[in-house]
Amino acid sequence: DRLKESKVYMRALFDYIPLEDKATPCQEAGLPFKRGDILQVVTQDDPTWWQAKRVGDSNLRAGLVPSKQFQERLTLHRIDIILTYIFLVVVSYLLSGLRRSFRLSRKDRQGSSGEGSDPGDPDFLTYEEVTRYQQRPNERPRLVVLIGSLGARINELKQRVIAENPHRYAVAVPHTTRPKKPHEKDGVEYHFVTKQQFDADALNNKFIEHGEYKENQYGTSIEAIRSVQAKNKMCIVDVQPEALKRLRTAEFKPYVIFVKPRVPESRRRRSAATSPGGGEHGRITDEDLQEMRQSAIQIDQQYGHLVDRVLIKEDSASACAELRGILERLERESFWVPLCWVR
Ligand code: 5GP
Repeated sequence: DRLKESKVYMRALFDYIPLEDKATPCQEAGLPFKRGDILQVVTQDDPTWWQAKRVGDSNLRAGLVPSKQFQERLTLHRIDIILTYIFLVVVSYLLSGLRRSFRLSRKDRQGSSGEGSDPGDPDFLTYEEVTRYQQRPNERPRLVVLIGSLGARINELKQRVIAENPHRYAVAVPHTTRPKKPHEKDGVEYHFVTKQQFDADALNNKFIEHGEYKENQYGTSIEAIRSVQAKNKMCIVDVQPEALKRLRTAEFKPYVIFVKPRVPESRRRRSAATSPGGGEHGRITDEDLQEMRQSAIQIDQQYGHLVDRVLIKEDSASACAELRGILERLERESFWVPLCWVR
């Protein structure tokens, strides 16, 4: 009965394989899960082992999963072992009396981080409490964030989807220090600002990201996103994944789509597979393909836990159609979001 009542849902931020877990009291009773799975936590009575079910699983039986606290401690324990090793090597050359006090002070610091680890910190990936959320018609549309690995061309994808439906979707107008071209209008293509103004804004943390291109500064401001949302349009941004931390707020409720080009095995077989990015593939070498694969792996490892949806891009047209479908569902259906975004 408790099982039916439990309203606690957690998004797993790590993979768990009970059969490989030496700490579990019973491997057979463990519930295997993958990062991104939603778990319904049936009981948290035991501080070390929770009982949980996987949402969407036809299997009704709950299994054991490590509690958040326990998983955090395991992570800390691993870091502890490494730090302790380094510490011992260094300190053994120094006064032996220092050894104890150093360890104690480090333990103190760790003790205080036990509660509510930051889901953005890849060193402490445990669980994130989530709930279903559906955008209501009177609410500001969720922010759509595209991140992409090498070759994904997310900017092109974004522009295409917006051009198809400019009444519903829009970009956040970036700021730039480059001179305005005759056909451009301030506030349409860009907000044209002086270098002084740009630097001041950057210093005041007004940009979600900024960078330099041909000696001019470019950046997208938080305000630019807000002004799109104020018009009741869905704002689509394409950013470096580092910007995710900045955007993951209750205000924006970002839906994060990770676009990866489908990378063929090798250049020779590329004619059979659709080539990534489209266009200039005649010049793509095997090393380029390897770099693309590597880029996707790296982003997945570092930011995969912040991603709501992975979009494998075969070619521009199909990726665009898929993105369109996702955006339409986003307005109609409910999705899992961190509980703290709606409380
Ligand atoms: P253009 O000056 O031709 O309009 O843009 C040149 C380049 O500026 C673009 O290809 C893009 O790489 C960069 N750019 C445009 N907007 C932004 C932005 O908001 N942030 C960053 N980092 N670069 C931008």
